[in-house]
Amino acid sequence: MVQISLGDWHSPDYTAEQIISRLDTVSKLIPIEKVIIGWSDNKDIYRQVGEYLHGRNIRMLLWLPVFAETDGVCDNKPAVDLWGKQPENYEKAAGNGFRFTCPSDPQNIANVVALYDHMFNDCGFDGVFLDRIRTQSFVTGVSGVLGCGCPVCVERFAAEGVDIQTVKAEYESQGDAFFSVKGYSTADGFIFENPVAESFFKAKGHVVSNSVAAVADSLHNRGLEVGMDLFAPFLAPFVGQDYAILASHADFFKPMLYRACRAPAGMGYEYVQLLKSLPAATGYPHFQFDTDFLKSQLRIMNSFSCGKYPGIEINYDDEILPITDHYVRESLEAVQDCNVDGVVYAWNIMEAPLSHFVK
Ligand SMILES: [Zn+2]
Repeated sequence: MVQISLGDWHSPDYTAEQIISRLDTVSKLIPIEKVIIGWSDNKDIYRQVGEYLHGRNIRMLLWLPVFAETDGVCDNKPAVDLWGKQPENYEKAAGNGFRFTCPSDPQNIANVVALYDHMFNDCGFDGVFLDRIRTQSFVTGVSGVLGCGCPVCVERFAAEGVDIQTVKAEYESQGDAFFSVKGYSTADGFIFENPVAESFFKAKGHVVSNSVAAVADSLHNRGLEVGMDLFAPFLAPFVGQDYAILASHADFFKPMLYRACRAPAGMGYEYVQLLKSLPAATGYPHFQFDTDFLKSQLRIMNSFSCGKYPGIEINYDDEILPITDHYVRESLEAVQDCNVDGVVYAWNIMEAPLSHFVK
């Protein structure tokens, strides 16, 4: 599977001709089963690329952001932290739109599905690939991780047995120690020392992931295949991604097993942000983000029945993705050693050196 990032909503970075020419080149180097492309509003690109792909029995999936980057196309309510403030925005690798919206507001969920219906349903897509199906991570401190705290979310937390006032009071009195963990294991992930934190993150996984499930189910009802872009399993609980819930609403998972990426979702990058945000929290081990770690993350997914297509970075960028041929090769070899259905060559084949397209 390959990804093509078209940039923002209104001015696609490439023409259909450029994309088709690239796909022609890449398909001679690696087999392509599906193409994930988005999220420009330029329908002609999808129609032309779709015609090319369908003539070659390749499926085309719309890359659709759900709880961020919908500014300008949906009038969605923003996410807030437990104090009712909007978390800071992350602006290094994306535009101003990388602002998260509330995962519970029913109108937010309806708007995203309506966006598909109005903008994309006549473009020839075989499926939808859901991205930004989470809250903000530690890239802007703890604020986004402790959310969403809007009245609708507070009610949903209450239904999960979690009183947000108690969580707030506990964090205010404990500070970083609220996040301290007993340790980490591949089987159980991080176990929080504080039972309030433990139940908050468990409930957060239910709140966010059940909303993602609602979006996925609506799209399935339209006859579409549904894929999901996920944080690596060890980070997923902090952003509300409950793999077990999501697995029963997805056709396939793409865990972003990015070892080199110096931007959101990069495993090392996100973990450094976590440690920086919580200098006084204890129990967080030092991880080596090597291929053994990568394999350990895939083992966690063995029990889920949906398709598994780990995402490996192959595009190059001096600042955020300075990767080598060796890096790409060793990552691909490692994931193919595991029980996977394929690989996603992430996240933009238009900007990848051809030497990165190795089988
Ligand atoms: Zn909310």
